[in-house]
Amino acid sequence: MAQQGTIVYLENVSVSFDGFQALRGVDLYVDRGELRALIGPNGAGKTTLLDVICGQVKPDNGRVIFGDITDLSALQPHQIAALGVGRKFQTPSVFKQLTLFENLTLALPQRWALWATLLGSTSPTQAEQMMAILDTLGLVDRAHDKAGALSHGELQWLEIGMVMAQEPALLLLDEPVAGMTGKEREKTAALLRHMAQDHAVLVVEHDMEFVRQTAHKVTVLHEGAVLCEGSVDRVQQDTRVIEVYLGRGYHADATDSGAQRRLRRQPDTVGY
Ligand code: ADP
Ligand code: MG
Repeated sequence: MAQQGTIVYLENVSVSFDGFQALRGVDLYVDRGELRALIGPNGAGKTTLLDVICGQVKPDNGRVIFGDITDLSALQPHQIAALGVGRKFQTPSVFKQLTLFENLTLALPQRWALWATLLGSTSPTQAEQMMAILDTLGLVDRAHDKAGALSHGELQWLEIGMVMAQEPALLLLDEPVAGMTGKEREKTAALLRHMAQDHAVLVVEHDMEFVRQTAHKVTVLHEGAVLCEGSVDRVQQDTRVIEVYLGRGYHADATDSGAQRRLRRQPDTVGY
């Protein structure tokens, strides 16, 4: 049974690729309004887990229940997106020749995108909605600039905005701060906290300082299984997590910037 307030739960989910088990009986509950971080070594199965929720990968076993009753594992990715699951991928998908505003228009849910196409423009309400999103992203002054003019960090924010334009109930983000500067990371953390006010967010991230600034709860995946789950403090002090992920020589002292730097892993290079 779903816990009250649960937006998505995975029950005993397993995935294998040509006999290789990427996920092994994973149980995961994410509540409405929760900001959950998913961490773990490269190859742990984090991206695969997001792929399962948004329907890109079908589990061999187990169920993915969304909004209490819908079994997502039976649906196609576009049906899952229409139900309110938004996904930001690791690789950018913006149109660089179009403006920020135009990119957001393309991201509108289909019914609105059709309206915009038929009338050759967006309705005033949608225009306001998109300007509000750009405002949240700190990009409102850039609304009519081409997306190609954006920095790496700004592009990531635009993509987050494009997912927000779809008004998802659950937002999935895969390593959103990879390649960002310290300041951009801080801004992204503030953005995620803002979004978590009315969305559930599940974010894969290696940067433990970022995780500390954002997550309510952390799930650690290792070799396709949940190794540990709890508060940031709890997982940072868990000896198994330190052993397999955070590394030897790590001191669970958040004020030690040297330790934090050591925790800042390189982003995945796996192209899935
Ligand atoms: P993470 O995101 O935690 O780094 P992934 O979910 O990308 O891990 O991958 C988990 C494991 O599954 C890795 O060993 C990876 O090589 C493998 N894998 C992922 N996707 C595929 C695929 N489409 N085909 C074959 N192997 C895959
Ligand atoms: Mg990954």
